[in-house]
Amino acid sequence: MATSFADFVKSRKEQENEKDRSASILYAHPTDSTVQRLLSRAGLQGSVEAVINSYLRVTFGTFLHDSVQVSPRQFPEMYAILTECAEKLSIPVPRLLIGPGEGGMGMNAFTFGTDEHSFVHVTSFLALQLSPEELRFVIGHECGHIQNQHVTYLTLAYLLHYQLFNKFWHKPDDYKFPMLATRVPLASWQRRAEVTADRAGAICAGDTEAGARALIKLRLGFASLAQDVDVDAYLAQGEELRKQGLVVRGQELMQTHPLVVKRIKMLRLFAQSDLFYACTGLPRPAGVDLLQRTDLERETEQMVKVL
Ligand SMILES: [Zn+2]
Repeated sequence: MATSFADFVKSRKEQENEKDRSASILYAHPTDSTVQRLLSRAGLQGSVEAVINSYLRVTFGTFLHDSVQVSPRQFPEMYAILTECAEKLSIPVPRLLIGPGEGGMGMNAFTFGTDEHSFVHVTSFLALQLSPEELRFVIGHECGHIQNQHVTYLTLAYLLHYQLFNKFWHKPDDYKFPMLATRVPLASWQRRAEVTADRAGAICAGDTEAGARALIKLRLGFASLAQDVDVDAYLAQGEELRKQGLVVRGQELMQTHPLVVKRIKMLRLFAQSDLFYACTGLPRPAGVDLLQRTDLERETEQMVKVL
């Protein structure tokens, strides 16, 4: 186990060198893969990583050392889940930290940093309230962001919109256009990156229903309330949304994650696809026509698109 962050980065690089990082990721949402290729071709990655690393040192310097790192000696069951997810996705075992959410409450998980130096954080409340299968989905989802090299751009998006632009939001209208001009396309990519990461979570969990339960718990904030949710009735609310006009549906344009009702439906679609069985290695069910890739992506796009 690494004794310092520098040791951790060094060992991670050594592990990475042993792996073929250029292998294409089969299950990624096609738009997500295309955007990733364009961004890496634009050569932006290297120049923003230095800025992000400086920001992380200033903002998360103590946070990184004060949160509890999951390891074989600390939260060993969660460490086992983490290593299994990393192994399944062929990535080095990432640094996983547990700490309180805002005000000591809140269920949340996120991955921050750059593609080289990243860490996953889960809140204590989430660690307490999710079952091992649901945790496997959530940790697998975060590992999916790492495997698909989303971390640098997701962190950059957070810095731009939550740390920088939001400080100008109450200033004159002059600032609103540049904010919207970057936020809408960035959020559009982010929602598709979340689809990719949800698929990674489902691959790690070997199932999509644990993911559905985890997402409902995250939405409600309390595990005990999730017991009273009728998933089919909840998903029917998503159908009602489709009938709404642009004023209602357009609100999702600024959101970084698809609505939970959509995420669960997209997960269930993935579970009905040949791709899910190809990625998990699970035996294909006899006598069932599995969705082929083009149909899966067409139907997924219908759900993930906002307007
Ligand atoms: Zn995510």
